[in-house]
Amino acid sequence: MKHTKIICTIGPASLDVSLLRKMYSSGMDAVRINTVHGDIDQYESIIKTVRMIADIPIIMDVKGPDLRVSLINDLLVEKGTRIWVGFSKKEMVSFTGDCYKDVKIGDWIHFEDGILESKVIKKQRHKICIEFIKKGILKDKKNVSVIGRRLTIPSLTKNDLVCIMLAKRLKIDYIALSYTRDAEDILNLRKLIGKSDIGIIAKIENPDGLKSIDPIIEAAQGVMVARGSLGVELPLQKVPMIQKSIIKKCIAKGKLVITATQMLESMINNHRPTRAEASDVANAILDGSDAIMLSGETAIGKYPVKTVEVMASIAKEVELNVGCQLCNESSSDLSDAITNSVYSLCQKTHIDHILILTKTGHTARMMSRFRSGKMLIAVTPDQNVKRKLHLFFGVFPVFFKAPVLDMGLHAILYCYHEKILSKRDIVVCTGGMYTEKPMMSNLIHVQKVSDLIRYKDN
Ligand code: PEP
Repeated sequence: MKHTKIICTIGPASLDVSLLRKMYSSGMDAVRINTVHGDIDQYESIIKTVRMIADIPIIMDVKGPDLRVSLINDLLVEKGTRIWVGFSKKEMVSFTGDCYKDVKIGDWIHFEDGILESKVIKKQRHKICIEFIKKGILKDKKNVSVIGRRLTIPSLTKNDLVCIMLAKRLKIDYIALSYTRDAEDILNLRKLIGKSDIGIIAKIENPDGLKSIDPIIEAAQGVMVARGSLGVELPLQKVPMIQKSIIKKCIAKGKLVITATQMLESMINNHRPTRAEASDVANAILDGSDAIMLSGETAIGKYPVKTVEVMASIAKEVELNVGCQLCNESSSDLSDAITNSVYSLCQKTHIDHILILTKTGHTARMMSRFRSGKMLIAVTPDQNVKRKLHLFFGVFPVFFKAPVLDMGLHAILYCYHEKILSKRDIVVCTGGMYTEKPMMSNLIHVQKVSDLIRYKDN
């Protein structure tokens, strides 16, 4: 079993059912719908198709204050070309969010992850005039970065609201919020989501998000290191250490962490990655990412299945070298002490797998933090929890409504009958037993599967 999870962005290159099946059997663990492309009917059809193929998490990536350029035809620009940009669809060239007030003369505006650079030279009648620094092609829907400016555009657009309604209606697992600026953005989205238990993933893409990283991690269920935008909004030499620092903080709190963008970029056109890309994937895993994400590679690339195969093979090769990054903090919390003890048991004695009894997913998330190298079989009576847990490093979730009495023993027997465990296995069973308290781990039980079968048969 592969411990690192692979997220594939779905697009024209991967919309076909048989292709999706192949991607799934090659190691795809979750899908992302990037709502900057396509329309609501297409998203609904992607969700329904994915659900036909596998019970895996679906992430809807809403664009929030993600600024894009809108134009009818691609525009060839030269060094010195000047164009006027407005903020309504009626204009020849416009931005998707109204940032007229925020943008100042002299500001740098970058397009398409910095491929095209321009400078603001005039502002007039609710339009800005920009001048390009070198030749290039300005393309519709490409991202726009106003370097160093905090934009006051709303954290959710009208289109985002429509997507969120769809996510609620179809019970999507996660919503990823682009350009999360602070914990308030997360709390506002949480209010909109209401009672539904959709998880929120904060996409960290600019200096604002970085400044508020601790409260964002506290408020969200997970974080995505969105390296594409980070490398434009900040000097790109800073991105590797930012990646490591965000991952470390998320692991400490038991929050999901995803490393994204340009991981195997050259495979959009080639059937092999570069050596540098293979190392980048390996390093993101060694840093401690729960999941690594493919964007253009699977959305518009020529080799979506091959790309997943390559990523999965790199993951399998390097992931058993991932070490525990948790500081040895002494905590008086019982759940912390239990998961710590399970980890040290695995270090000191022969344990094949860890079996976790979990209603909310809490013990499984806390156990995953240790990157123990063991398969974490998370047995849960909740289908939604099961799907969400599938994104965490090393977690292999199983849906089973075990009877309350001797729950652990029933769960082991169920996994044995389902061929998830073999007779020879020694498992440590942990989680919450005989307690009404949610998110409470109180059990450590070591069991050889063959002994349990013998006792049961007698
Ligand atoms: C990124 O910028 O790295 C990213 C993941 O965002 P998107 O793909 O939505 O542009």
